[in-house]
Amino acid sequence: MINDKFLRIAGPCAVESYEQMSKTAQAIAENIDILRGGAYKPRSNPASFQGLGVQGLEILHKVGKEIGKPVITEVLDPRHLENICKFSDYLQIGARNMQNFELLKEVARSGKTVVLKRGMGAKVSEWIMSAQYILAGNSKVILCERGIRTFEDSTRFTLDLSGAMVAKIESGLPVIIDPSHATGRKDLILSMCMAACAAGFDGIMVEAHNDPQNALCDADQALSPGEYNKIIEGI
Ligand code: PEP
Ligand code: MN
Repeated sequence: MINDKFLRIAGPCAVESYEQMSKTAQAIAENIDILRGGAYKPRSNPASFQGLGVQGLEILHKVGKEIGKPVITEVLDPRHLENICKFSDYLQIGARNMQNFELLKEVARSGKTVVLKRGMGAKVSEWIMSAQYILAGNSKVILCERGIRTFEDSTRFTLDLSGAMVAKIESGLPVIIDPSHATGRKDLILSMCMAACAAGFDGIMVEAHNDPQNALCDADQALSPGEYNKIIEGI
């Protein structure tokens, strides 16, 4: 629990347009604590949608204000940080940047709460050491387990709940679970959210989109607002 609450972060993978953000956010507003949306996307394929950049930040900020919720977005590069801090309440460090140590030092200086995702190939001990880079300058860190690479390919990654619990015990930090990236499958998100809640984690981060089939990023794991709302009622 974070401030006595099971933290619910949800929203689309990427900010695509004002209409998409607004429709999604309005439909899930009652069931979220923080609205997510990537303005800078770390895509494996350079030909994939890279995010709207500053325009995406402006849309995220505006929609957050409209629904009265704080927002979170991913920081890929220290050069974007000043602008991101103007528009976003929380900062996310993605799996691919968990060991980008200069970036970690920079987000520490921002003073904002940082959600630090676990690298897909990172041990728990490495994840905690990355958190310590941020903690050196800023006490507000939330860890996020988002699945690791294993031999198992029936899910996008393998959700390591036990490792995440080790991280919670050893670090004393709050840990949230992201079943969207961990599983890559809409039909597993309810059960993994319930597992996260039952196990005593501090919250969840889930991808939801007003038009999931046409999402520009991570469409296979995007829930519709209705599906997301049902999951929250379920837990
Ligand atoms: C995301 O949250 O959209 C994202 C890119 O996640 P991860 O860094 O866990 O892959
Ligand atoms: Mn995503």
